Amino acid sequence: MSDPIDQDGMQIQLNAAELTALQHLKTVDFELGYLALLTQTGLKPVSRWEKALNRTETDALHELGLQTRTVGRRVRSGKKFTETLFGRTPAYLEVYAEHFEGLAVDKSAETVRVEGFLFGYPPCCVAQYIRHPYAPSEFPTHKQEILFHWSCKGCVVTPLLAPLYEKLHQFTLRC
Ligand SMILES: [Zn+2]
Repeated sequence: MSDPIDQDGMQIQLNAAELTALQHLKTVDFELGYLALLTQTGLKPVSRWEKALNRTETDALHELGLQTRTVGRRVRSGKKFTETLFGRTPAYLEVYAEHFEGLAVDKSAETVRVEGFLFGYPPCCVAQYIRHPYAPSEFPTHKQEILFHWSCKGCVVTPLLAPLYEKLHQFTLRC
């Protein structure tokens, strides 16, 4: 039986070292592995992990061809914490750090726009989210669970992205 992951469209080809790196990230946290694969394949220009990573975890991201950058943030009470950003190229990491370094976390329209751009969310969904977060749409709720953005009503981009997210989610589950 052929592997359904590789039957058509986007191929997920990892060498042995890359696969080991992905498996390690998945043991740290499934979502970290899934985000690493989404970013490694280019679906997401940048991903954010909301804490510092140790050397082994950072090395695993590098093994997957990703660059990493830590950014200092504050929660609203003022307490500092470290985020780890990763992406295929340094430019978007620089854009993130330039905008967010030292800032308290917030959900302003400006933040949602910048994050949406860097994290690979459809602009239509970002605009709708700013007007009305989690507004109802015809996109099935159960398919939302593996996405990181909320589909806008009548979205033409999300249905194109969703099967690719699904494929990478399945690959992460099975690897
Ligand atoms: Zn949309």
